Amino acid sequence: MSAAPLLPVLPGTVSADGRPATLGVMGGGQLGRMFVHAAQRLGYFTTVLDPDPHSPAGYVSHHFIQTAYDDADGLAQLAAQCDAITTEFENVPAQALTALAATRPVAPGAAAVAIAQDRIAEKDHFVACAGISGVSCAPFAVIDSAAAVEAVPDALLPGILKTARLGYDGKGQMRIRTREELLAAWTALKQVPCVLEQLLPLKAECSVLVARGWDGSIVSFPPQRNVHVDGILAVTHAYASNMSSALAVQALAATKSIADHVGYVGILCVEFFVIDDGSEHGALVVNEMAPRPHNSGHYTLDACDVSQFDLQVHAMAGLPLPQPRQHSPAIMLNLLGDLWFDAQGKEHTPDWQAVLALPGAHLHLYGKLHARAGRKMGHLNITGADVAGVQATARKAAAILGLPGLEDH
Ligand code: ATP
Ligand code: MG
Repeated sequence: MSAAPLLPVLPGTVSADGRPATLGVMGGGQLGRMFVHAAQRLGYFTTVLDPDPHSPAGYVSHHFIQTAYDDADGLAQLAAQCDAITTEFENVPAQALTALAATRPVAPGAAAVAIAQDRIAEKDHFVACAGISGVSCAPFAVIDSAAAVEAVPDALLPGILKTARLGYDGKGQMRIRTREELLAAWTALKQVPCVLEQLLPLKAECSVLVARGWDGSIVSFPPQRNVHVDGILAVTHAYASNMSSALAVQALAATKSIADHVGYVGILCVEFFVIDDGSEHGALVVNEMAPRPHNSGHYTLDACDVSQFDLQVHAMAGLPLPQPRQHSPAIMLNLLGDLWFDAQGKEHTPDWQAVLALPGAHLHLYGKLHARAGRKMGHLNITGADVAGVQATARKAAAILGLPGLEDH
């Protein structure tokens, strides 16, 4: 899958027909916005394609194409304007990426994105990679018929039923205890293809980001520990003592094999569970992969010498991939729309004055004009000279904003 003749796309260059070197992104959410910032910092022009006229990335991009992701004219415009194209969310139709790849380097490619779009294909991929890394996914069964419900082994109960496609932030998931509940849950999910996963005893969750180039070279960030509240990421702890070093090494190796096995190009995040298997530190299980930058990697913007978005730019454009260095311990606090409402449901502005007075607090708001409960509005990175200081500042910020997720950690 080499796009060698068209790469590298050097920043700041102008083509013979007068077009500045331009990078494109499918999707205009906050991940697209931070990608645009990174690309522009290097001197690229940018184009964003998104159906929403008020997309966070569309607001800050040089060019914005407002069409559906599968609109042939929109895709043709994107290909005409851009020297290389990436994606910021996994539900872009894989066919659209295939169409773009006919004329432009597209990273990640359609095959990798198609795997991440479908939990069944994703689990098959993880099982195949487990042969290399020794880290597999949760025991599971595909639920696509009443017969499949009947055939579910008792060992998978209690479990979590997840739609194979289009789930995020815990949506499209139901916890079930019995076979009867499984049938009812599958019916409630409209009998679309699903996977049933065994409910695992989680000790912790973590994720790993790697960037892989067109030549197969690979660099990585250290694993980060994640705390979810109500199925949505709330807090990321990014410092060396956040998990056992043996597990960190294993998570990194598993992520690399998951990227290599699909010939991945771009930035990839793999989420893991640390399960309680009776051992001191627990055991790793792969949860899912995201073919794009990830919420749990936002700390890299302020705590590392290159961010996950910088590496997304480098990888797609065929630039060298420097090994990132984390220069500060960090904690990332996710800022959901709930913060914009008081106990009576009245809208207010969170106390940014108090937060911005904290040393090492880096506020990132995504330019979303309307807050809603559960909507990702921004994040707050806390950096500092040492872990204890970062934890203390994060607790202060959480207290000011009324944020959950730090209580037990
Ligand atoms: P994302 O926003 O990360 O894409 P998602 O909706 O795809 O989320 P998952 O990552 O599959 O959902 O699950 C959300 C959360 O639910 C996990 O982070 C974990 O806390 C919990 N969870 C999921 N699967 C299991 C499992 N098999 N056993 C125990 N807990 C689980
Ligand atoms: Mg997840």
